[in-house]
Amino acid sequence: MVIVMDETATKGQIEAVELRLKEKGFQIHRVDGVTRTILGAIGDKRGIDLREFEVMEGVHEVLRITQPYKLASRTFHPDDSVIQVKGALFGGDHIAMIAGPCSIESEKQLYAIAQSIKNSGARLLRGGAFKPRTSPYSFQGLGIDGLKIMNSIADELGLATVSEMMEIGQLDAMIEYVDIIQVGARNMQNFPLLKELGNIKKPILLKRGLAATIEELLMAAEYIMSGGNYQIILCERGIRTFETYTRNTMDISAIPVTQSLSHLPIIADPSHGTGRRDHVAPMARAAIAAGANGLIIEVHHDPDHALSDGAQSLYPNQFSRLMQELQTIAWTIGKTL
Ligand code: PEP
Ligand code: MN
Repeated sequence: MVIVMDETATKGQIEAVELRLKEKGFQIHRVDGVTRTILGAIGDKRGIDLREFEVMEGVHEVLRITQPYKLASRTFHPDDSVIQVKGALFGGDHIAMIAGPCSIESEKQLYAIAQSIKNSGARLLRGGAFKPRTSPYSFQGLGIDGLKIMNSIADELGLATVSEMMEIGQLDAMIEYVDIIQVGARNMQNFPLLKELGNIKKPILLKRGLAATIEELLMAAEYIMSGGNYQIILCERGIRTFETYTRNTMDISAIPVTQSLSHLPIIADPSHGTGRRDHVAPMARAAIAAGANGLIIEVHHDPDHALSDGAQSLYPNQFSRLMQELQTIAWTIGKTL
C-alpha cells in the first residue's frame, strides 16, 4: 500500500505514520517528492483496515498497489524518476546516449572509439569486460584489466562508463571502475545477483531477458529496489520471437507500456535488438520517437575485426549522423538530448 501525505504534512505527522506502519510490521520505503512525501508500505495487509491510516493527521490518501511490483510502480512514485550519472540524465524529458564497443579489446581500440562517440555528443561509454558469450570458445572479455582501461580513458575524456557484471564476485571491481553496472539479458532473473545489487548505491542498467514479459522485467527491478537501490534504468533490447531475419525482435511498444506502468526510465538497445548494422539507425529513431529515455548503441572503428558483435556495430560516422537525426526527433517531442 502507498500512503500519500498532504503537501502541508509536518515532519511529526509523517513520523507518526511511519511509526504506526512499523508497529504493524511493514517495511517502509519513503520518497520525499518536491511537493509531498509518499510512504510505500511493503508487508502483509491482511487484517489491516486502511481507514486507520486514512484518518491520521497529515494523510492525504491511502492507495492499494495492485501490481506485484510495488516500488517500481507508478502508484508508488507518480512522477518519472530521473537518474543522473556524471551530468547525463535518464528520465523525464531527458535523453542520455550510451555508445561504444561490445567488448573492450585494447587501449588503442577503446580510445579511438571513445573519442569518436564523445565528439558525436555521447556522454557515456559502454564496453564489456565480462562477456556472456553463447560459445565458450568465443572471446570472453579482458576482465578487470579491461575495466581499468575503460576507467582511465573515460576519466581522461570526461565520460561515464557502463559495463556488464555477470556474477557477484565481480562486484568490488565494478564499484571501483564502473559508473553504471549492466545486468545483461541472460542474467535478468539471476535473483542472488539482483539482491546483491539492491545493497549498493550505483545505478543499474537492467536489460530485459530474452523471453521476459514486461511484468517479469519490472519484478526483476523490484528485487533490486526492495534492497534499497532505486537507481534503475530499464532497457528494451529485443526479445525472442519466431522471426529469424533479425537477431531479436525489438519490442518498441514495451517503451510506452513500461512507462505507463513504472516511473523508472527505460532506454533501448537497437544493436542487440536487430543484430544488423543497417537496421540500427531506423530502430534507434523509432525508439526515441516512442519516448525512450536514452539509447545504448554499439559503435566500433573497425567492426570487421571486432572480437564480438561487429556486424551490429555502427561505424563512427554513422553514429555521428544518427546523433544529429535524433536531436531533431527529440526536439520535436519536447525532449533534450
Ligand atoms: C551487451 O550489451 O553486449 C550484451 C551482451 O547485451 P544483452 O545482455 O542485451 O545480450
Ligand atoms: Mn554486444
